Amino acid sequence: MKYSTLFLIAICFTIFSCKTDTKEQSTKASESNSKDLAAENSSKQKQLEIQPISHATMVLSYGSDDFYIDPTGGAEAFSSFSKPEYVIITDIHGDHLNIETLKGIDLSSTMVIAPKAVVDQLPSELNIGKLVTLNNGDSITDKGYAFEAIPMYNLREEALKFHTKGRGNGYVMSIGGERIYISGDTEDIPEMRNLENIDKAFVCMNLPWTMTVDKAAEAVIEFKPKTVYPYHYRGKDGMSDVDKFKTLVNQGDESIDVVQLNWYK
Ligand SMILES: [Zn+2]
Repeated sequence: MKYSTLFLIAICFTIFSCKTDTKEQSTKASESNSKDLAAENSSKQKQLEIQPISHATMVLSYGSDDFYIDPTGGAEAFSSFSKPEYVIITDIHGDHLNIETLKGIDLSSTMVIAPKAVVDQLPSELNIGKLVTLNNGDSITDKGYAFEAIPMYNLREEALKFHTKGRGNGYVMSIGGERIYISGDTEDIPEMRNLENIDKAFVCMNLPWTMTVDKAAEAVIEFKPKTVYPYHYRGKDGMSDVDKFKTLVNQGDESIDVVQLNWYK
């Protein structure tokens, strides 16, 4: 009698404690699941998305903020995107600055960032929310983002006339903890080779206006971005050999991810 009572008590205790344990475990599991889910959702919402439009033109999206880089090709190319939070312009040439395209975009709540040579060409009818002139070496922060103007210019004697030092800007932008480099039209200048901690780099390579794939690869191997996107590679005599660029970069440093996007549709 005594033993069986004890036995029953022991069984009840075991069942009760098992249930409690199970409940605690499942609560913990669901808590950790919801934490994982929240982390996953926030990283999903806040992943930088890259949409190449053409040649030098792209849209970067981060959460609900769209960054239009050198918007050209007509406003309809941007109809699937929200009004830009930022428009970033590198230089005065038509493949980077296109007034007609800008006229078709609602810029009334947009910060437009450009070098002085570009700002001088923007008509007042554009109704820009906030126009910021950045020249080489200048920087600005806004809403947790940072924008730094990097020089862009030619080095080869025969190409000096294309991009005079000081006129146009490349940019390093800090978006969501990543540093994004947009080269603009440039050769393998020291200011590019000396860049540090770049997560994503957009690097031009076309002749006669910028540089060869060999020079672009040399510079990229030196500043070691985590990922490089060859862009702006249609030259006077057709497309530059971006496959060769990838091979050269990875021969020099196989840890650099070379990503080919569809810039010319
Ligand atoms: Zn260009």
